[in-house]
Amino acid sequence: MSDLQAIVDEIHAKLQKRLGEGKVADYIPQLAHVDPKKFGIALVTTDGNVHSAGDCNEPFSIQSVSKVFTLTLALGKHGETTWNRVGREPSGSAFNSIIQLEHEEGKPRNPFINAGAIAVSDLVLAGHTPREAIGEILRFVRYLADDDTIAIDPAVAKSEEATGFRNFALANFMRSFGKLSHPVEHVLGVYFHHCAIAMTCTQLARAGLFLAASGRNPMTGHTVVSSQRARRINALMLTCGHYDGSGEFAYRVGLPGKSGVGGGIMAVAPGQASIAVWSPGLNHNGNSLVGSLALEMLADRTGWSVFGH
Ligand code: GLN
Repeated sequence: MSDLQAIVDEIHAKLQKRLGEGKVADYIPQLAHVDPKKFGIALVTTDGNVHSAGDCNEPFSIQSVSKVFTLTLALGKHGETTWNRVGREPSGSAFNSIIQLEHEEGKPRNPFINAGAIAVSDLVLAGHTPREAIGEILRFVRYLADDDTIAIDPAVAKSEEATGFRNFALANFMRSFGKLSHPVEHVLGVYFHHCAIAMTCTQLARAGLFLAASGRNPMTGHTVVSSQRARRINALMLTCGHYDGSGEFAYRVGLPGKSGVGGGIMAVAPGQASIAVWSPGLNHNGNSLVGSLALEMLADRTGWSVFGH
């Protein structure tokens, strides 16, 4: 057994006593009913080895982790002009905050808060119907993970739409500043569907591998983005990937990472590995409590923090 597998097993065993801590997202029944004691971890190294433990092959709602994939697509379509529509600064606010939008005339602070991801959905929609844009995102995620079984959970997408009043407010507010090019219903249709993608930790770790390997997926040989773009997406994940908990995550873990309200986190150890963890209980910033602890232990044990050993 490799050292990495032993580390993953140890983290999984040590955190058993913490399972159930935190608060499971309850704004839609599909998330509220997930067993709070679920915990999976999967790590894929840049040389293609997979190490995993626990509920690593059970699909969960990736929610805001999907914002990394839509940003990557938008950058591919629009290049640097993407940044005319969304900023690159940490928000210091909750994931669904509307406060800064007024000061910044409808330009969201970064692509990982809801407002920013809605702006990114608008960019992905360019030249497409909503159905085509959703198909493009799903195909892209399947290509990244090299797994055509990945799917969108239609019940989650529907519930997001039925309860997403704040997201409608954000989108309408941006539209009022002329910052969305498509009808709000179309933009949010895309947004709600990419949030509703279901993936396992193993699939998610594979999908993030290009970010750990300078833009190229070493398992498929596909060059997804340039090394400069991979580096920049990692920088955004580090500074903005955990909302108002981004500073704390950088301090404790020291890896670029993106969380979702479904309890998933995708993290990147540049040059080393891509890691996905899942445990539904969230901390007060809406990030997986046990998932964050798992990544903190992993970074401690491996010395993979981007800030040094
Ligand atoms: N679908 C969720 C929302 O828009 C995503 C938020 C999250 O994962 N933090 O509220």
